[in-house]
Amino acid sequence: MPIRQLPEDLINRIAAGEVVERPASVVKELVENAIDAGGSRIVVTTAAGGKGLIRIEDDGIGMDQADLLLSVERHATSKLSVDDLDDIRTLGFRGEALASIGSVAELSISSRPAHAESGLRIDVRSGVRQGPVPQAMNRGTIVEVRNLFANVPARLKFLKTDRGEGGAITDVIKRLAMANPSVHFVLNGTDRSLSNWPSVNGTGALEARLAQVIGDDFAQNAVRLATARHGVVVAGLAGLPTYTRANSLSQFYFVNGRSVRDKVLVGAVRAAYADYIFRDRFPVVALYIAIDPAEVDVNVHPAKAELRFRDPGAVRSAVIRAIGKALSAAGFKASTSVAE
Ligand code: ADP
Ligand code: MG
Repeated sequence: MPIRQLPEDLINRIAAGEVVERPASVVKELVENAIDAGGSRIVVTTAAGGKGLIRIEDDGIGMDQADLLLSVERHATSKLSVDDLDDIRTLGFRGEALASIGSVAELSISSRPAHAESGLRIDVRSGVRQGPVPQAMNRGTIVEVRNLFANVPARLKFLKTDRGEGGAITDVIKRLAMANPSVHFVLNGTDRSLSNWPSVNGTGALEARLAQVIGDDFAQNAVRLATARHGVVVAGLAGLPTYTRANSLSQFYFVNGRSVRDKVLVGAVRAAYADYIFRDRFPVVALYIAIDPAEVDVNVHPAKAELRFRDPGAVRSAVIRAIGKALSAAGFKASTSVAE
């Protein structure tokens, strides 16, 4: 076969496989965009586990006509300058999310910047942009994604049930909400479940947000973490040894404001509680690590939230110490009855 340039729409659909794995990854990209745009209230509505509809509404800075048209082009971004190229891998798929989503779903974007008298709307169908047309709306941006993967049957087939995909969406939003306490989140699902987490600010904001998202129960049965050691700041809440779960689904880890999955952190928490709880039980924790970005390598796979610490030992001991200190201050002494 002769070499030929692939059509733009096909390039986007291939790229979409990387960025958009399932409805929850669409929600993550769009809510991150809303947060980046300075949204203070973000409303997420989904139907059929996000396969039917994902709608994200924010009250952020919005886009004018030129930006709106550019936003769905591949590699178009307002968040990266040529000077930042060294950072490109830590930023993930910059400027690809909307273009990718537009190639695997029906995408509509309506936006109205603060200074504009009304909004504009564009639609992307089969990767082809239509519009802009006028749209009556408040300041901010509304992104609607319908019939995700309808044109990628192979991908659609591998999705879970509406319930399963809906659960993954809820998990993504929980994590984003925990990382951004000052943003008001409203979540509407088709199972008629509704979450409403008003903005919390000032001292205790983190704990207040955790109480909203994980439950008052947790906040009342947890100790507050606040230590800094060897440049590793540990904050958040650690559940009491008397408040455990049968699995690790209620363990949340954040590094420099982003939700991550990381074996070092999981291992450190396990070790911190080893003397207090049985091995088949899991503590509930929301752990926030702040560390010099140069000490973390995020190049593993940005969409999968994995990372690598340059000095895992320092992070591990900081976490073990933070939890140990807080638990012993709450009167929990290492028990000798749990043998290693
Ligand atoms: P990236 O976020 O990596 O820049 P995206 O494809 O997600 O790439 O978005 C492209 C651009 O569209 C963003 O850089 C931003 O300028 C604009 N944009 C996207 N979503 C919003 C939003 N909710 N509010 C304002 N601008 C947005
Ligand atoms: Mg984005």
